Amino acid sequence: AFEKIAFIGLGNMGGGMAANQAKAGREVRAFDLSDAALARAEAAGCRRATSIADAVSEADAVITMLPAGPHVLSVYAEQVLGHAPKSALLLDCSTIDVETARTVAGLASEQGYVFADAPVSGGTAAADAGTLAFMVGCDEAAFPGVEQALEPMSRITIRAGDHGAGQAAKICNNMLLGVSMIGVCEAVALAERLGLDPERFFEIASKSSGQCWSVTSYYPWPGPVPAAPSNRGYAGGFATAMMLKDLKLAQDAAAKAGATTPMGAQAEALYALFDRLGHGGKDFSAMIQMLRGRLDE
Ligand code: NAD
Repeated sequence: AFEKIAFIGLGNMGGGMAANQAKAGREVRAFDLSDAALARAEAAGCRRATSIADAVSEADAVITMLPAGPHVLSVYAEQVLGHAPKSALLLDCSTIDVETARTVAGLASEQGYVFADAPVSGGTAAADAGTLAFMVGCDEAAFPGVEQALEPMSRITIRAGDHGAGQAAKICNNMLLGVSMIGVCEAVALAERLGLDPERFFEIASKSSGQCWSVTSYYPWPGPVPAAPSNRGYAGGFATAMMLKDLKLAQDAAAKAGATTPMGAQAEALYALFDRLGHGGKDFSAMIQMLRGRLDE
């Protein structure tokens, strides 16, 4: 059973995830470098730890939700391994590079710990609602425990394969999403130029072979999908800067593996340009504004 959870990294995602662990009746010892994040976690029913070592000292499971690979490596190497009980299950839910995930898994297993990479799909709304999708890289034998530890935060948990496979699945999924969103944005912008009503194009594309998540759940033109960020000036949602981070991870991984990913490379270049023009904070579907030549809107 997972009664005591150590939660490290209480940001936009981790804050809601830790709160859902507490809501499930687990004792959550939370730590973050930010005092404001700690205060929010405390208000959500978590206990404030004084350090990472303090947070993990009696944990049944340690969950980390940190910005990037270097944070994950240093937190585990310096403050989790050797400080958490050997029986603690170690789960990193951050989106990081495959290599670092495998390095941390190796360091953990050398010291007798079980580690899993368990990045998420779903964004902050799903983090708050406890409806994230987790893609997991771990030994097959460890998976039932991983699933149980993640349960209060999840809608679905899928084992992608061994160590690093969760991160591989995450970056492949997001590369596909980046490419498909740009494709949808181009098509809608072209429809507009051709005098076709973008709302009518939605009706057609969502029932034709152009159908995909970027059309049906996240249409970049306001109207057809009320929950999509296009209806609120592209605020909130999945920031362009975050999409760019994931596309970079995909290109780095592709270069190292010798994979050919020309569309992923093009998506990275377009999101890098959009970010460079000062739109990194906008939802990634705002790419349509650049393709329409309407960056001022
Ligand atoms: P965030 O920047 O809001 O939160 C990260 C938190 O980690 C911050 O509160 C920061 O203070 C804390 N932190 C950094 N170094 C630390 C350390 N050494 N010790 C303790 N705390 C430390 O980021 P986020 O949006 O919550 O994203 C976290 C991860 O989840 C990222 O890898 C991101 O790519 C991934 N992700 C984000 C989303 C999203 O929609 N925001 C969706 C899926 C995956």
